[in-house]
Amino acid sequence: MLVSSSDLGRLTPNLSRRNALLGALGLLALPATGFAAPPAAVSTVWPQDSRVPGGMARLSLGPAALRPVAQQGELPLLVLGDEIAWTALVGIALSASPGDASINVRASDGTQRELAYRIEPKRYSEQKLTVPPRTVDLSAGDLARHERERAHQEVVMATFSQPLPQAPLRMQVPVPGRRSSSFGLRRVFNGQARNPHSGMDIAAGTGTPVVAPLPGRVIDTGDYFFNGNTVWLDHGGGLLSMVCHLSAMDVQPGDTLKTGERLGAVGATGRVTGPHLHWGVMLNRTMVNPALFVAA
Ligand code: ZN
Repeated sequence: MLVSSSDLGRLTPNLSRRNALLGALGLLALPATGFAAPPAAVSTVWPQDSRVPGGMARLSLGPAALRPVAQQGELPLLVLGDEIAWTALVGIALSASPGDASINVRASDGTQRELAYRIEPKRYSEQKLTVPPRTVDLSAGDLARHERERAHQEVVMATFSQPLPQAPLRMQVPVPGRRSSSFGLRRVFNGQARNPHSGMDIAAGTGTPVVAPLPGRVIDTGDYFFNGNTVWLDHGGGLLSMVCHLSAMDVQPGDTLKTGERLGAVGATGRVTGPHLHWGVMLNRTMVNPALFVAA
C-alpha cells in the first residue's frame, strides 16, 4: 500500500511533545559531517524514474487525444506529455511499503483503469545520536507554535494548480555547494526513531543567493520553528519546492519567478547547527528526493 502523507502530515495532534518533535525533525538540518559527494547518475530524462520509497515512478499512460486524469487515491497526480505519449509522475512516500501499488487513470471519455506498478525496497542508512534530552523536548509554548505551523503548512502542501509545468522537469540546484546524499537518512535520537530526512542539504555560507529551481509562484513565506525562514514555490500540478533556514527572503506570496531568479539567501534560521540550505521537493504531497530532478 502507498502512503501519501508527508513528514508533517503524518503527525497527529495527540502525540507527546517528544514524539511531535522527533517527527517534525524530519525536515531538520544535518551537521556538516552529513555531507558526501553525490552518487554519479547518468540520465537524460528528468525527473528520473526511481520506484523506491522517497523516489518517483514515471508511469506511461500511452497515447490519447486529450490529457487523462490520474489519481493516487484521492490525490491528483501530475500528468505530462502530449497526444502521442502521456506520463504520470507519482511521488512515492518515504513511508511507503515496498510491493504492489497502483494509480487510477480516467480517460477523457470517462473510462477508468487501474495502472499497477511495483515499489522496490530501499534501505536508507541510519544515524544514531545521543543528545541532551532538552534538545529533543519542546516547551509547551514551542509545541503549540509548531502545531499551528503544521496546520498551516498542510494547507500549503495541498496546492495543486494550473498551468502544469513544462517537461523536462530538470531543476537548477537552488544554491551552489556540496550536496548531501542524506535524503532518507533514518535518524534515531536517544533511542527514539524520528521521521527520516526528507530533503537535500547543501553546504553554503550565510548570504549566498538562493534561486528558484524551476519557474514557479511563491505560495508561502514564513519564519517557522523548525525550518526557520522558508519559501514555498508552486511549479504547477502538485510539484512544489521549499527552501529553509534562509537569512533573507526577497519574495512574497503571489510573486512569480523564473528559473535561476533570486528568492533569498542562505542562513541558519530555525533549528539548525549551522548555515546551509535545506531543499525539499514535493510531488502529490509527498517529499521526494530532489536529486532525481537535477543533473549529476
Ligand atoms: Zn535538511
